[in-house]
Amino acid sequence: MNFVVGNLVEPVFKPPSEWDALLIAITNGCTRQCTFCSMYRSKQFSMRKDIEEIKMDIKRAGAFYGNRVRKVFFEDGNAFAVKPEILTELTEYCYKIHLNLEKVSSYAHAKDILKKTDEDLKKIADAGFTMVYVGIEIGDDEVLKACKKGTTQDEIALAAQKCYKAGIAWSGIFLLGLAGNDPEKSRQHSIESAELINRMAPQTPIEWYISPLTLSITPGTDLWAQKSRGEFQPCSATQILEELYTMIEYTSDDLQKCIFNTNHASNYLSLKGELSKDKILFLKIIEAGIKDPNVRRPDYLRSL
Ligand code: SF4
Repeated sequence: MNFVVGNLVEPVFKPPSEWDALLIAITNGCTRQCTFCSMYRSKQFSMRKDIEEIKMDIKRAGAFYGNRVRKVFFEDGNAFAVKPEILTELTEYCYKIHLNLEKVSSYAHAKDILKKTDEDLKKIADAGFTMVYVGIEIGDDEVLKACKKGTTQDEIALAAQKCYKAGIAWSGIFLLGLAGNDPEKSRQHSIESAELINRMAPQTPIEWYISPLTLSITPGTDLWAQKSRGEFQPCSATQILEELYTMIEYTSDDLQKCIFNTNHASNYLSLKGELSKDKILFLKIIEAGIKDPNVRRPDYLRSL
């Protein structure tokens, strides 16, 4: 269960691994409106201007939860958009108040990482900011543009390297099915995603994280409207697994310490391991899932 204090505006989201974090709103909403995403449609993006008020939230959580807080997650969809000096100040303050704190993280857009200098990122990391969760979605520039992600494969690869250099851990989230159901395009986009994974590999052997999710098209999004007009045809479950297979198949065998995880409830198969070491096993499991629908997570158990 998350630790919460005031000033969070519903709906609130966080990565599954932050289920036990103290959630602190430093922004509301998201800077972007990607065509497939419904998460922050009800909120206009804003940064909280009153830093002292945010500090009061952090302090109040200290009074309420004592020394039980070990993780802080800055909300909302792109909290890393705030100025580097504010991120640094708030991170430092979290450690001052929460004496057993081990991790501070947020969602981040690649462009907002790139806007910060290496020195900015180093200061943020030195203050104790430990990880960014980056919605990568896909490695293909054409699809990134079509879904209004506002970034490119080159930028994402560079943002990852800048984070490693500063000492900030990287968790990248892909979205299977985003390219639609054209078999040739779907395969090509999966190869591009594998290429991006290869380019995001750290130069030094540190842990980094890749988590593919599966697209579900929700009402109110542009993609829902495109699907209703017949302009977007979703992938079948088999095609989704074929994308996952191709993405893994084309990753380099030399990747080190890439923790790969498809445990998210949207996925048809649950894989967890180190990408290069477990590659053959992953491919066998996916192959079985492609051949036999009975080994897939049924739709009623997937969070659609
Ligand atoms: S950047 Fe992420 S949270 Fe924001 S609209 Fe796009 S997918 Fe949604």
